[in-house]
Amino acid sequence: MAIVSAKEMLLKARNEGYAVAQININNLEWTKAVLQTVEELKSPVILGVSEGAAKYMGGYKTVVGLVQNLHDFLKVTVPVAIHLDHGSYEGSFQALEAGFTSIMFDGSHYAFEENLAKTKEVIAACHAKGVSVEAEVGSIGGEEDGVIGTGELADPEECRVIAATGVDMFAAGIGNIHGKYPANWKGLNFEVLAEIQKVTNNVPLVLHGGTGIPGDMIQKAISLGVSKINVNTELQLAFADATRKYIEAGKDLESKGFDPRKLLNPGSEAMKQVVRDKIALFGSANKA
Ligand SMILES: [Zn+2]
Repeated sequence: MAIVSAKEMLLKARNEGYAVAQININNLEWTKAVLQTVEELKSPVILGVSEGAAKYMGGYKTVVGLVQNLHDFLKVTVPVAIHLDHGSYEGSFQALEAGFTSIMFDGSHYAFEENLAKTKEVIAACHAKGVSVEAEVGSIGGEEDGVIGTGELADPEECRVIAATGVDMFAAGIGNIHGKYPANWKGLNFEVLAEIQKVTNNVPLVLHGGTGIPGDMIQKAISLGVSKINVNTELQLAFADATRKYIEAGKDLESKGFDPRKLLNPGSEAMKQVVRDKIALFGSANKA
């Protein structure tokens, strides 16, 4: 299967009661580890790319080329979307032009009316090319590439208006936070989630900040209409931890242990295990 939009995979997830993982990628190792694992488990996946990650990897076209070519080389058969994560207004159009198949326009820092107007423009441009769109209502706590929010709860009325634009999915703050969760975190707010779900007419909901939310809360959120869950920090922590252990054990000094194909392998294997665990938790195995 070619690289596809996220629309169909999320509607299927919404109807069948599971969630598709958005796994953020940073380079070749990340992309390969995720593609190999989702193929092994026959799960659909959304590869998330922040503007910062795209810049790091050499621009939007490099990202599309990397994903498309790895996808073909590895003979991936499951649905894969290339999704811009927290895109700016300009970045959304640039990623669309470069061949991304899904775009999150994050207008949460604009006043609501401007967020709404710009979201509609992004939807019109993306839908003309069969590309799916994610909008954000309110802001999500924590830090995403330098943008800091303070853990808000979305206004269900704003969610209703955004959902009615024809957007394919939307993110709304329900107490979730980007990055590591603080020890005094209050947990997800299921009352707000249920209220949002009631007024948004089955548009798939997205949960950002999937790292560190307890499994039972994740499953309850899925039962209340969350169809896409973003995972980013957890892979970074797993990669760093496994790489540190390899170096601390002196393995880079043994034989050709310094070869990047060996040095980066424990980290890649650790990321694969995180992806396997997430797919098991989200219920998307064998849903391709
Ligand atoms: Zn996010």
